[in-house]
Amino acid sequence: MTTQFPPFTEEHELLRKTVRDFTLTHLTPFRAEWDHAGEWPAREMFKKMAELGLLGIRFPEEYGGSGLDWWAHTAMIEELCQARNGGVVMSIFVHTDISTPVINEIGTEAQKQEWLVPAIRGEKIGALGITEPGAGSDVANLQTTARIDGDHFVITGAKTYITNGAFADFIILAVRTGEPGYGGVSLVIFPTTTPGFTVGKKLDKLGTRSVDSSLLHFDECRVPMSNLLGTLNGGFVHIMQNFQGERLVAAIMAMAGMEIQLKDAIEYGQTRQAFGKPIGKFQVWKHKFAEHLTNLEAARWITYRAVQKINSGEDPTLEVSQAKLFTADMAQKVAYDCLQFHGGYGFIEEYDICRAFRDVRLLPIGGGTSEVMKEIIGKWSGL
Ligand SMILES: Cc1cc2nc3c(=O)[nH]c(=O)nc-3n(C[C@H](O)[C@H](O)[C@H](O)COP(=O)(O)OP(=O)(O)OC[C@H]3O[C@@H](n4cnc5c(N)ncnc54)[C@H](O)[C@@H]3O)c2cc1C
Repeated sequence: MTTQFPPFTEEHELLRKTVRDFTLTHLTPFRAEWDHAGEWPAREMFKKMAELGLLGIRFPEEYGGSGLDWWAHTAMIEELCQARNGGVVMSIFVHTDISTPVINEIGTEAQKQEWLVPAIRGEKIGALGITEPGAGSDVANLQTTARIDGDHFVITGAKTYITNGAFADFIILAVRTGEPGYGGVSLVIFPTTTPGFTVGKKLDKLGTRSVDSSLLHFDECRVPMSNLLGTLNGGFVHIMQNFQGERLVAAIMAMAGMEIQLKDAIEYGQTRQAFGKPIGKFQVWKHKFAEHLTNLEAARWITYRAVQKINSGEDPTLEVSQAKLFTADMAQKVAYDCLQFHGGYGFIEEYDICRAFRDVRLLPIGGGTSEVMKEIIGKWSGL
């Protein structure tokens, strides 16, 4: 008996069509405008996505989700990348994949009702607050503290580069509640209406410019202890598990982005002429694109292998780390060559490759750098 792989079905095709129609109508036409404005109408768009059932693809139906699997989610991500704006896509995935899944996985019933249900309805927007000015890759060294006072945490510290941070309603916040190192880290659902919480100056970024990635300050912020996710001082393991979904989404985005850039460039090469012929007819470029189309297939299959692993419920750390490393690094080479192929036009905002070149640079940094991926792969491979 042969089993189809990837296991996309007609149901997935219908979902793809819904996402594609939404994306091409409501997101893609505004890709340049929102990048220049430095913001996008997140609240309005999250509402529209919720109406289409797109904010809870993998969440249980009892909380308003669709109860579908990672393959459905993969189909959705691939289609959303047609927005051609890395900031918008990242803003959506910070909500659907980076901040809310941990509530579904380890939240109490009350927490799910208070935060997950409205998140799936697009009424409350989420962010994830791990990185600090002094601790990024070295997560176990984070310094934002939450001391216990009665039945409240009192949180003081700072987080940085927090995507959606300027407008999110809640932040899944990593705080120090115990000893130094990973054994003293907890996760707390932090409402951004809490007194003492402020958003610092807007960080002027190279790419993903349509959404903020903010510096946040916490000054003696009192949060009920009932907002603790999981166990006290047991947050580190959940942060690491949460990273798997985030990194897998990054790999899917990298792969889908490469496909768009290559398609665009190949089309451009059919019409742009130099020395009496379309530039795509020069052998050097034919070879370059043959190489990258092969790299794209390698990216697709290493990513789908990781989707299969996470979908099976087994620990996907090795496969996800390899997929993130390979696709994020390859995306740099593809974007570089596609821009180069456009000549001067590649440097002009009118062409999507210009924005894509900026946006893809985040992929080997955000959610764990390529060096950190190599550390993990080395460890899992017994090096
Ligand atoms: C646009 C943007 C959006 C982001 N969104 C979020 C968000 O929503 N929430 C959030 O919590 N964080 C977010 N981040 C933070 C991101 O995850 C971190 O930037 C990333 O994990 C790297 O941490 P760092 O910047 O502190 O770099 P550092 O940890 O200071 O690393 C600097 C360099 O040292 C290297 N290095 C570090 N450790 C090792 C090692 N062991 N071996 C070899 N080399 C090493 C790194 O690979 C890197 O090249 C975002 C970042 C950006 C730029």
